[in-house]
Formats: sequence, C-alpha cells, structure tokens
Amino acid sequence: MTRVYNDPTNFREEIIIGFAAAYGRYVRRVEGASGFTRLSGPLAGKVSIVVGGGSGHYPSYAGIVGPGLADGCVLGDVFTSPSAEQVYRVAAASAGNDGVILAFGNYAGDRLNFAAAQERLIADGIDTRIVYVTDDIASASPEERDSRRGIAGTVAVYKIGGAAAETGLNLDEVERIMAKAKDASFSFGVGFAGCTLPGQSSPLFDVEAGRMELGLGIHGEPGIKTVDWMPATELAKTLVDAVLAERPAGADGRAAVVVNGLGATKYEELFVLFGAISDQLLAEGVTLVLPEVGELVTSLDMAGCSLSITWLDDELEKLWCDPVDTAAFRRGAVSVSSFETLATGHSTAGAEKVAAGPASAVSIAAADVARIAIEKMTASMVENEQLLGDMDAVAGDGDHGIGMVRGFRAASDAIGNVTDVGVSALLREAGDAFGDKAGGTSGILWGILLSTLGDELGDNDEVHGADLARAVRRAINALQTVGKAQPGDKTMLDALWPFIDTFDAGLASGTATAQAWSDAAAVAVTAALDTAPMSPKIGRARPLAERSVGTPDPGATSMGLLLTVVAEVLNA
Ligand code: ADP
Ligand code: MG
Repeated sequence: MTRVYNDPTNFREEIIIGFAAAYGRYVRRVEGASGFTRLSGPLAGKVSIVVGGGSGHYPSYAGIVGPGLADGCVLGDVFTSPSAEQVYRVAAASAGNDGVILAFGNYAGDRLNFAAAQERLIADGIDTRIVYVTDDIASASPEERDSRRGIAGTVAVYKIGGAAAETGLNLDEVERIMAKAKDASFSFGVGFAGCTLPGQSSPLFDVEAGRMELGLGIHGEPGIKTVDWMPATELAKTLVDAVLAERPAGADGRAAVVVNGLGATKYEELFVLFGAISDQLLAEGVTLVLPEVGELVTSLDMAGCSLSITWLDDELEKLWCDPVDTAAFRRGAVSVSSFETLATGHSTAGAEKVAAGPASAVSIAAADVARIAIEKMTASMVENEQLLGDMDAVAGDGDHGIGMVRGFRAASDAIGNVTDVGVSALLREAGDAFGDKAGGTSGILWGILLSTLGDELGDNDEVHGADLARAVRRAINALQTVGKAQPGDKTMLDALWPFIDTFDAGLASGTATAQAWSDAAAVAVTAALDTAPMSPKIGRARPLAERSVGTPDPGATSMGLLLTVVAEVLNA
C-alpha cells in the first residue's frame, strides 16, 4: 500500500516540494515546472543531460541529478510521462550553451512528449538530441530491439552519459557514447507483488501465493510469464541465463552489473540474490566492474527486482567508474567543476501564449457549446474513471482513467474563466491545459486533438457540419502523424477512423449535423468494443499483447464515451 499521501491528485507536487526541502544541496526546482536542475547549473561549455519520466521510480529521477550524472530531471505524475510543456521548461532551464540530451526509457508517452519538447527546444536554438533506453529483454524480441522498454538499465546509460558530459565531450560525442551504452544494456526482472497507486485500495495486479512474475514492468504492468516460486540461487540462474543469452558477440566480459530493487524487496534479499548472481557471472567469465545493488529504478511499493548488465569496453568502463555525487548515487570524490555557472537558463518566456484576437458573436456562441461539451465530458470521465483504469491495468499501467480525468479537469479549469472568446481560442486553451496536466500518451494526443480542432475552426465563422468534419479529420491526421498508429494497432484511432468516415458519409447524404454525429458516435462505440480481440502493436500494452486480447482498448473506449457525450450536447 502507498500509505503516505494527502490528496492523491497532488502527489507529484508534494514529492517535489519534499525533495527540494531535503536535497536543496543538490538541486534547485525549476520555477513553475515539475522538475529540477542541478544546483550549480546550468553550466557553460558543458552538454546537459536531462532525464525524466513518471514519478514513482525514485531515485529515478530526482535522486540522480548532480555532478557526474544528470543536469536536470522532469517528473510526470505517478507512472505517467511528463508533458511536452514540462520537459521543455525543465530542459530549457537546465541547458548550458553546448546542447542538451533528453534521456528516458522507451515508453509511448515519453517518446511523444520528449519529441515534442525537442522540437520546441531546437526552434529556440538549443541543439537537442534524444536517447531512449531499451534494456528490458522481456518486452520484445531481439529483432524488435527498438520496441523494448527501458527499466533499470537506464541508470547505467545515464551515468555513463553524465560522466561523458562532465569530462567536457561535445554533444555528438556524448550522444554517440550514450547510444553505445544503450546498445550494450540488457535487463530482466521478476515481480512478487504488484504496486498500489496512492489513494487506491488494491494493487494494479496480484501475484498468486507461491508464484512469481517473470519479465516485470516498472509501472505495475504484470510480468510476461507466471512461474512457481524458486530459491534465490535458482532465481539468480533464471535472470543470469536470460541476460547472458543476449551477450553481444564483441563483449569481452567486463560489465557494469546492477541488481535493482523495485521498492518493497529488502536490500538483504537483494544481497542474497546478488551473491548467487555474482558467482554465476564469474563462472561465465564475466568481470563485474563496480557492481551496484540497491534501489535505482523503483515501481512504488512493488515487490521484485531485476538484473541489468551493461557490457563495457575501455571507453564505457572509465565513464562507469568516474565519480558522481547525487542525492541517491555517489561514487568517489567529484573534483570542483571546471565549468562556469551561467547566470540563468534559457528563458521560456517566449512560450507564453499569444492573446487571441476578437471573436465574432457566432464563434462565441459556438465556444459556449464547446464549453458545455467539455464540462460534460469531464463528468463522464469522472464517472468512468475506475472502468477505464481497470481496462488499462489488464495489460498497461492502469492510469488511463486517472489521466483522462486529470486532463479534462485541467481543460475545464482552464476555460472556466475564459469568457467572450471564440471556439478556436477556447479549444486551443483546453488542449494546451489537457496536454500539460494529463501527461502520458493520451495526454499529449488529446491535447493535440483539442488544439487542432481549435486551429482548424477559426474564431469568426459559424461552425457548420462540414467545418466540424474537416476539423476532426485534420485532428485525426495530426494524431496519426505524431503517434504513427496504423489501423488495427489497437488504439483510440481505431474508434476515430470509423467515426469520421460515418460522420462524413452522413453529412454527404444530407443528414443533419447532430444526427450524423450521433450515428457516427454509435459506430465509434462499436468500433471500440471491436478492438477487444486485437493485439496491441503500439503503446504501453504492447509488451503484454497477449493479456490484452479479449479486453477493448481503453483509449478507444474513452473515445467512444466522449464522442457520445458530444452527440448529446449537439442534440440538446
Ligand atoms: P499511457 O500509455 O501513457 O499509460 P494512457 O493509459 O492514458 O497512457 O492511454 C493509453 C491509450 O493511448 C491506449 O489505450 C491507446 O488508445 C492510446 N495510444 C497509445 N499509443 C498510441 C498511439 N501511438 N497513437 C494513438 N493512440 C495511442
Ligand atoms: Mg496507461
């Protein structure tokens, strides 16, 4: 159980406040953002490493900010990718003048949000590269290496990259070294009990007594295989065999070895396991270079652990051994930084929104309809929060309901005080708030959806059925461009494509707008149900595709519900 909290919806903010209070000697909060820069930063002439992801993984990420490791970290809500807006603000504040590497584990939401932030940073003149880590061998086959998730192997990659940046290497070099470390990193884990989100009464998954889950995820996703409990020596062999099976041809045996605890597994248990792992690795001719045993990437209160190996050559070995000084990871003495502190980071003031121009009366009237729709959509998500969460917990991380509620509440709040604006400005405002506050995959995608509708509708003209259809089509295309989902991949788009085709066809045959929308929404609801037998090809549920079969896609389901709410508003 996660027992210490006030308001679960404010959990992330309170983590940040407490961490800043405790470790002000390492970090400084980026004002108005969910993240930190290292105390002495930003540094002139040094490449900046900015790491991040959802909360719930401490010491990742706030605990690994400091000399020899990260220059900044950005935190999302529990198990939810930070929004592009937050990544952008933290990275800009952490950037010196030698470029930035955004580093994170390979998850759909992180990929989308960090990429969107990268675009904005580059537009501001900050050379920005992305390194996403793919160490979890359980999450995809060796042939699909690029689809693998990042778990505890991330820390070795960040540590090596942080050391490279600290020695003054340039952006190309740091990026090359991190890519090499990432390619050399392999992990495999085991779970004994699922974790419980703050405020929830039951864990995201259960492990039967006497059993364990192999191939765990670090967001409360269940493992890929359930097996009988086994003694530590046998468990060590299971983990070692799995990781060594992927030993790269060129590896000479030197390795950074990490045994990582997930949060509820005792250090003593980890040492029992490590003793056996170490024996077996030595017997296989592996030289363990400064191994680490402990919590580096946790999953709230999940019980379990993982083995990570990063194969080292001379270059990586030196960087792995270099000193580091952060709240949670320290090694050797860090010499006084040779870099000069810049007065301030890059300003994100230019990111402030341009005020909307005057809107016509018809557009203000349309905005009122949109406002009512968003309020009712918010209520619908609150009502269905549990259902959507349970659906997402089957093969994903159980946060779809929470995320949608957070997004719609933020959108409602943002437009609550905005009066006398046109429908375009209203929707853009709602989309920005949604994307920023919801985070995750559906956060950025719904943010884009609402904002694109706004961009397309304009603030002057009356909105006819054809305008609505054109705007929705544009928004769907934007989602496809960003998320790259194909029909049948089991995503929200599998509800949206049949929706827009039906809506267009209805309008073309002369059906009134509200009725055509209702007919199309009914088709979307059916299409969402029809995703049940599909196997997800993209997103968080992909590694557990088998478990997902039989359950409809949560994102498609919420889409069906929300399109239906809009139908009710249009008909009223
Ligand atoms: P996260 O995956 O970050 O936990 P959510 O649980 O809120 O985010 O949302 C999951 C939903 O996002 C999925 O059910 C799916 O409908 C949708 N989704 C995931 N990846 C994509 C994508 N690439 N394109 C469109 N929709 C996607
Ligand atoms: Mg999810």
